Amino acid sequence: MIRYSTVGLLYTRTCPLACRHCIIESSPKATEKMTQALASEYIKVVPKYSDQLCFTGGEPLLYYNEILPLIRQAKELGLGVSLVTGAGWVTLAKPHIARERIRLIKEAGLDALVVSWDSYHEEFSPPENALLVVESAKEVGLSVQVRGVMSATGPLPRIEQKLVSIDVKYQKQNILRLGSAATLPEDHFIFGGIPKTGGCGTIFQPVVEPDGKVYACCGPSRSSRSETSPLILGDTAHESLDSIFERATNDPILEAIATIGPHALFNLIKDDPELVGVLPIRERYTGICELCLDMNDVPAVVNKLRARVSESQVSRLITALRLYHQSSPELRAEVQCPM
Ligand code: SF4
Ligand code: SF4
Repeated sequence: MIRYSTVGLLYTRTCPLACRHCIIESSPKATEKMTQALASEYIKVVPKYSDQLCFTGGEPLLYYNEILPLIRQAKELGLGVSLVTGAGWVTLAKPHIARERIRLIKEAGLDALVVSWDSYHEEFSPPENALLVVESAKEVGLSVQVRGVMSATGPLPRIEQKLVSIDVKYQKQNILRLGSAATLPEDHFIFGGIPKTGGCGTIFQPVVEPDGKVYACCGPSRSSRSETSPLILGDTAHESLDSIFERATNDPILEAIATIGPHALFNLIKDDPELVGVLPIRERYTGICELCLDMNDVPAVVNKLRARVSESQVSRLITALRLYHQSSPELRAEVQCPM
């Protein structure tokens, strides 16, 4: 059974920025938003499945007055709380507002702030906005990380050097051709053959979206093209979040993605004669998520995967890896949230 490293609440898809690579396809025109009451109900379910909660978006700090009591509620339930911001809400001319908001979310109980920032954000907003958020977070003692993606040919983010000077790590990963990034020119991507990575750490970070859909991972799985994909965990409009998580945390395919990973799963079925012409194989990939999404989009492939992962030899390997990961959680191979 999976225990999640964090549960994400994608509080709103609205964002002051409209980054060309946004995997959530957020922008000022994307209007979906969770109600505070529904978020509160979701939070009550989280401790059964995870010790951590993460507010993400879009830009959750657009609804800062609603997020504050939700942070307090999560803390009262014993959860660690983090929040992902794109810093598009910051007005540089009024830095005291940003400082005050960061101070109050820290006082409410926030433990960690993740600032999503790279050269695509800088097409809309100067790096000083993100720096103001980072420095304000450091001043009040919040754990702070900056994460972004790298375009293959685009400019380097201007923030990178500035972060070095204030001793904040910048985590970068290659851009995936998903979400809004699917329409970017080809020269933004690094293409390769089938990616040979191991288990996926991001599957320990499911996300509830404002429309009630629950996805297996933060970002990529919302690009699933089939409603039957195991990466779409459920819909809270029709089923409780508790029931959705109960099923998902016991799903052998999801556990196999977490432990042996999509590439190993692909190897288990790639020579199956019944899947000739059915198993999607691309000429090139921008990352492991494309392989994972492709396989899970095809019901016949999913059925084969279910049969293979339940075979005793594979099942024993998955169990062994699960125990290994549980003894050393830091060994979970991380595919970072590409928001
Ligand atoms: S990448 Fe982040 S900051 Fe940019 S549009 Fe998407 S949610 Fe907003
Ligand atoms: S490999 Fe990608 S699509 Fe598959 S579960 Fe992990 S993050 Fe999601």
